[in-house]
Amino acid sequence: MRKNKITIIIIVCSFVAAAIAGWAIASLVSAGNTSEDNNAENAAMVNDTAEAPKEQEPVELPPEESEEEVPAEEDVPPAPVTNAGSDNYTIGFGYLMLINPNFPVDTDFIAARRGELVSISELYGIQEGNPYNGDNLLDPEAAVHINDMVKAYEADYPGHTLETRSCFRSRGTTCGRLCAATGESDHHTGLTCDLLDPAYGTSLDTDTYDQHIDWQWLRANSYKYGFIDRFPYEWAGGPMSQPANVDENGSTGLFETWHYRFVGIEAATEIATGKYNGGEYDSLEHYLKARGLITDLKNGH
Ligand SMILES: [Zn+2]
Repeated sequence: MRKNKITIIIIVCSFVAAAIAGWAIASLVSAGNTSEDNNAENAAMVNDTAEAPKEQEPVELPPEESEEEVPAEEDVPPAPVTNAGSDNYTIGFGYLMLINPNFPVDTDFIAARRGELVSISELYGIQEGNPYNGDNLLDPEAAVHINDMVKAYEADYPGHTLETRSCFRSRGTTCGRLCAATGESDHHTGLTCDLLDPAYGTSLDTDTYDQHIDWQWLRANSYKYGFIDRFPYEWAGGPMSQPANVDENGSTGLFETWHYRFVGIEAATEIATGKYNGGEYDSLEHYLKARGLITDLKNGH
């Protein structure tokens, strides 16, 4: 009996050992097949399939292509907003285009640019107070924003309004220290208006700034609508309207408390809050140089 028992135990153990061996072989074959199947299904997963099958892990996607989302790089000029051509390469800077004595345009540019503008009198009822010296025309985007700005001023001062003195000009002026020659005026951009509230006087005289709540309001608020004080006192550079004063450091050569220029809200905010000027109001010239968009403010390149 004892011998028979031992024999039975040996037989049982043999079956168990054979079963374990069979299961192990089957498992190995199964793993191999799975690997081949995966390879066939998706070559991209070849690295993952060297291991035994496991739960699918979340696939880590490569970073999305960013060609279409251009980050706000400081050295990338904005997209052009005009089809009017010029040797002045800053015309390609969109709302940051620069026209001054060192960055002039010719009459062909001026004529072509005029054709791209809209009437802010007709569209928004913004009145031109002194029609002899220009046209009440603006770039369509700038026109939308000047309307918002005028409405905001009217809301702050019920009964008051802002009117223009001059927006687009086809030719320059010869009125002395406050004016620029044909081809050299910011008024050729289609992005500019001289503004005032007639309730505070209609002459363009910087000496009356203290009485002009309108100009003070514009200086403090215009950037919210994409406009800047284009010729602040701080950047006039001594005696005004001298091309020599438009220097390599960003002087504008002009001081006009009524002259407002559209550059877009982001740039206007950076200029008004002095992002590149120690927190003080910037000039467009200095801003463009500080951003690396212009290297030589004196010689037009
Ligand atoms: Zn002006």
